[in-house]
Amino acid sequence: MEKKTKQNHELMKDDILELRIEDIGSEGEGIGHADGLTLFVKDAVPGDIVKAKIIKMKKSYGYARLLEVLKPSEDRVKPLCPVAKQCGGCQLQQLSYEKQLEFKENKIRNCLSRIGGFDCDRLVIEPIIGMEAPYYYRNKAQFPVERKKSGEIAAGFYAGRTHSIIDITECYIQDKESSKILAIFKAFLKEYNISIYDEKSHTGLVRRILTRVGRRTGEIMVCIIINGTSLPNSRQLVERLCELQNMTSICLNVNMEKTNVILGEQVVTLWGRDYITDYIGSIQYRISALSFYQVNPVQTEKLYETALKFAGLEGNETVWDLYCGIGTISLFLAKEAKQVYGVEIIPQAVADARANAEQNGIQNAEFFAGPAEEVVPHIFRERKAAADVVVVDPPRKGCDASLLNTIVEMQPKRIVYVSCDPATLARDLKFLCGEGYELVRVRGCDMFAGTVHVETAVLLVRKP
Ligand code: SAH
Repeated sequence: MEKKTKQNHELMKDDILELRIEDIGSEGEGIGHADGLTLFVKDAVPGDIVKAKIIKMKKSYGYARLLEVLKPSEDRVKPLCPVAKQCGGCQLQQLSYEKQLEFKENKIRNCLSRIGGFDCDRLVIEPIIGMEAPYYYRNKAQFPVERKKSGEIAAGFYAGRTHSIIDITECYIQDKESSKILAIFKAFLKEYNISIYDEKSHTGLVRRILTRVGRRTGEIMVCIIINGTSLPNSRQLVERLCELQNMTSICLNVNMEKTNVILGEQVVTLWGRDYITDYIGSIQYRISALSFYQVNPVQTEKLYETALKFAGLEGNETVWDLYCGIGTISLFLAKEAKQVYGVEIIPQAVADARANAEQNGIQNAEFFAGPAEEVVPHIFRERKAAADVVVVDPPRKGCDASLLNTIVEMQPKRIVYVSCDPATLARDLKFLCGEGYELVRVRGCDMFAGTVHVETAVLLVRKP
């Protein structure tokens, strides 16, 4: 009893209560209230009435575990995936797809108003571009591998917020080929008793398996990430993998660092080419193991069409595509611009970008390797280049602060910002709008059904 009086509420760890879920948090958790406090309940959806057990209490909020759905919300659906609840990969599979889209639109709106300080009553956010088929959409998987205490090998995904692996046979948001590859790989590891990497002791060999499938070409890449330089019995693995039709590239990636970073820098080709190809729209892209390529090719085409529309090209413009990866957006824009400059930090991706331009007969796109924040000011000055439109598509952490300053100095008429994190997007937009730009269009695009992630494309125009 004494413990309870220290807090100004009555709730304690291990208490079990009935809650009505009223809202949804930014990580997809259900939100309810009890005793004047906010409680976050993972896997509960708005409209549910649930029985939940408090697992952690803070001063004004707490976390509870869902024990039972007493009365399901109208928006609750049965996930296709049997481990949707345990797996950290998807957070929203239990929510109808329509409501997932609404959640994502609101997430963008909230970030723009809370972090960016934008008045969302005045700013029109265009309807989010949803998916037609919200399952089996990913073209890339990176399954971590672990030897359990029992000796069994597990490969699949991390349980939410842990490094404990949930063994899976199929991931319902991945291309179906990836489960076939995973089955072959697990059987191989078992049969040849291959050493498995252990994170804690930094010993053992096999860390992960990466699979990539070209959606339009069907071409398959398998890359085994190892803490070493060679894989025993790799010939047998290659033989088995080659039974899959369309196997195109089998390689090893050497990662001997004690790190959470998935890929090392060295790639050793075991069989076939060291890249696969795929199409977005009419453009063919070459994709190497180390290169970034959007994971949802169907939605990517819609996203790039949106970016292209926002860029408003008439044919005479010089366009910069910063954080350009393998030149995906650059080449999309090149067909309607005078000149495109792409800048990307990963050298292999730049090599892919140059090959892609050549392969597609595109002569007005030039690519530079290096950190955009260093390369752009240099090239811009040296070339005395124009900058009518700047497109940026940075990783989740957003644009480098000094790059934003450089963009302002370049004075483009339009900036198209493509972002996979609305929070850093809002932060960067706030800066740019304080430097003479106006936010005129915002549109979400769902590339990641079942998860809380959302892609956004926005257009900023330079004020006269
Ligand atoms: N626009 C591309 C890639 C977007 S992902 C596409 O749609 O496919 C972001 C890219 O930024 C990655 O390719 C990553 O390697 C690259 N990157 C990360 N930090 C960078 C930096 N400081 N300078 C340039 N590129 C960077």
